[in-house]
Amino acid sequence: MTEIEQIKEFYQEAFRKLSNRHLHQKIEVKFYSYVSINHTIRVRNGTVFVRISDIFKGAPLNVQISLAYILVSKLLRKKISPEIIHNYKRYVKSEEIYAKATENKKIRGHKIITSSKGNFYDLEEIFARLNKDYFNRNISKPTLTWSKRKTYRILGHHDATHNTIVISKSLDGKKVPVYVVEFVVFHEMLHIFHPTMQRAGRRYNHTPQFRRDEEKFVYFTEAESWIQNNIKVLKRNAKID
Ligand SMILES: [Zn+2]
Repeated sequence: MTEIEQIKEFYQEAFRKLSNRHLHQKIEVKFYSYVSINHTIRVRNGTVFVRISDIFKGAPLNVQISLAYILVSKLLRKKISPEIIHNYKRYVKSEEIYAKATENKKIRGHKIITSSKGNFYDLEEIFARLNKDYFNRNISKPTLTWSKRKTYRILGHHDATHNTIVISKSLDGKKVPVYVVEFVVFHEMLHIFHPTMQRAGRRYNHTPQFRRDEEKFVYFTEAESWIQNNIKVLKRNAKID
């Protein structure tokens, strides 16, 4: 039995279980190249058409089963058990899938992930050092990349959705001390360590605990004042670029 045939049976089973009927539902399942992870289910002329993101090719069978239950539940407007959603989401979040999604985006030219190796500084090296010195290696490595443009407004940015840390290219120069680059990366790593808090509909990124931890950076004062003193130069460089 091929993967698709097997998956088709999961959908048959999901239909039988969720609709409490023993009818044989006509189902067509196809993998489809979506830019991001996406799946669709719809009915046309009595046949159910399922399109599964091709990123899910070769996914573990229990994940395919979860996805079948999720899509069929949506179609039949049934409640989905949290356990099933959790099982599905855990897989989506797994690094393997993340890597494939990034690869797809690269190929299709949507979100271009540039290299972590700059002209002067290697973000992976800096990340590994900081992870060892400050986080007991507890932070799993996100995608690290220099920004395409020299931005000064945002020296660093953590994109939680894409698990990516972006550092402004304006910091990748011989005149920028290494502790400044480290400090900006450190700040973004703290965003991973202290995820955004939601309270009463407001988002808190820089909590008091976050600020306290930020000050643990050995060159905190030096880095802060260097950025203060050089913001004009960074701005100018950003304009030239
Ligand atoms: Zn921040």
